[in-house]
Amino acid sequence: MRRSRAFIPTTKEAPSDATLPSHIFLSRAGFITQVAAGLYNYLPLAKRVIEKIENIINEEMTKIGAQEVELSFVTPAELWQKSGRIEKFGKELLRFHDRKNNLFVLGPTHEEMMVDVVRNRVTSYKNLPLNLYQIKTKFRDEARPRFGLMRGREFIMKDGYSFHATAEDLDREFDTVETAYKKILTRLGLDFRIVEADSGAIGGSGSKELMVLADSGEDTIAVCSKCEYGANLEAASRSKRSEIPEAPEVTFNKFTTPDVKTIDELADFFKIDPYFTIKCVAKRVVYEDESEIVLFFVRGCDTLQDVKALNATEALDIVDVTEEELQAIGLVPGFIGPLDQDKAKHVIDSDLKDAKDLVCGANELDYHYIGVDLSILSDVAYFEDIAEVNEGDICPNCEGELTFSKGIEVGHIFKLGTTYSKALKAEFLDENGKAQPFIMGTYGMGVSRLVAAVIEQHHDENGCIWTKATAPYMVNIMISNIKDEAQTQAGEQLYKQLQDANVEVMLDDRKERFGFKMKDAELIGFPYTIVIGKELVNGYVQIFDRATKEKTDIKSEEIFDKIMELI
Ligand code: ATP
Ligand code: MG
Repeated sequence: MRRSRAFIPTTKEAPSDATLPSHIFLSRAGFITQVAAGLYNYLPLAKRVIEKIENIINEEMTKIGAQEVELSFVTPAELWQKSGRIEKFGKELLRFHDRKNNLFVLGPTHEEMMVDVVRNRVTSYKNLPLNLYQIKTKFRDEARPRFGLMRGREFIMKDGYSFHATAEDLDREFDTVETAYKKILTRLGLDFRIVEADSGAIGGSGSKELMVLADSGEDTIAVCSKCEYGANLEAASRSKRSEIPEAPEVTFNKFTTPDVKTIDELADFFKIDPYFTIKCVAKRVVYEDESEIVLFFVRGCDTLQDVKALNATEALDIVDVTEEELQAIGLVPGFIGPLDQDKAKHVIDSDLKDAKDLVCGANELDYHYIGVDLSILSDVAYFEDIAEVNEGDICPNCEGELTFSKGIEVGHIFKLGTTYSKALKAEFLDENGKAQPFIMGTYGMGVSRLVAAVIEQHHDENGCIWTKATAPYMVNIMISNIKDEAQTQAGEQLYKQLQDANVEVMLDDRKERFGFKMKDAELIGFPYTIVIGKELVNGYVQIFDRATKEKTDIKSEEIFDKIMELI
């Protein structure tokens, strides 16, 4: 491509709402333009990057026997009513009526549609397993679209769905897809972790996320310093602490603690480690048609993990409560403890099961219990893992320590089980001729988010640094002075040679200052720029490596071979 003909509208200014490097640089380098909140146009450079990512996905999917399809973007709302997700997805689901007043949604994901496609068409175990996928535009009316391609409303997703006769076969396919996804991200040149994820409201048994490691990631993941373990904070678990602070030695008693309300005040008052205190987090838990106050108890040194709390109560939402609401049901804010179970439902963190030497609220103004032994609640209370892991906690799989890092979720693979096939009555006949619901897996990968993720991981203050597998053009030939005939000729010749060798090459033949063109090349992020300049008369040209910023002089007659070797 000749730069003089290319549609690459680079600018100095970033969009006013852009905070992330990928948003700033993809906009400034002329990859994308914004249409409205969360809606973007992909310009030629972005289209090329997207196509490369899609090609790699297609290749790896083909290798594992997955077949590509393309389902209608506009989806009958009826399918979403049958699965019950029309409520669960809420306002993210864009709904509209056609001229005959039929209700439709713009597909935010396609579980329902894919089940509907397979239903009554695959009828026997003999035709299983089956893995179908598509790469397609999705629409989610996100509450807070932001960060450019990272969280759009319209975005491109690769979504795959597998159908199985047995749970074992789903396990096998899940592992196969996980391996293929690893290959894709490795080929794209990304540093990533696969982590355990929350299975959430959809239910199902296993769920993993693919996280590209980047400081700007919206997700926090806990990773083990010793083994492969990694998990989203929403799903991370831990082993019991091995080093426990010195326990306060007291017998059970009620103690006056005037005005001692917070955990810090409590620990200070008794001169004990917050580990031995019990914190109450009161919330209003919202179900489909009702809500109730639930008291969550964790150790004073821990915090409540909202998603874990949501899962423990099987609620739709969890919201804050006021002191007045608590007082209305006879609770005393600041002094709520788990020993009286009658006023509200309790959920106690599993780390507190059978724990001893504790201090907790006595459910009475200005009183706490000391020397509390929670084993008395073992059989009556509800214990669940609801605490967020802390940095330094012990890995659930080995004795290593957990540390936190930030990640961008670029993929999510999920053992769905029979949730959708049951809801949509999609069945096959098993070996005994008995009708069974399909056992399913679902596998998503954010294609347009990956474009942003590459840049989040690979950029500097001057712009994008594309990896070899994702670069829109591998080589940029820069004719330093377009009026110099020899330079122009050498540039044109190399351009032709590289094109003939199927190298993706750009020829910067614009009548612009060298400095301007170089800045432009850095902003766009071509892996290699070949500068054909003053030294040509002495038989030399220069290679500029975008990632290392190294400039190497090469004999002009050797440049073609050198490029072929580099790429
Ligand atoms: P998130 O927690 O980031 O909202 P999600 O859990 O809603 O993601 P999935 O429903 O699992 O995402 O979708 C599969 C993949 O699609 C995600 O892993 C992500 O890469 C991509 N994706 C989801 N929502 C968006 C979005 N709004 N913009 C761009 N990509 C997205
Ligand atoms: Mg989402």
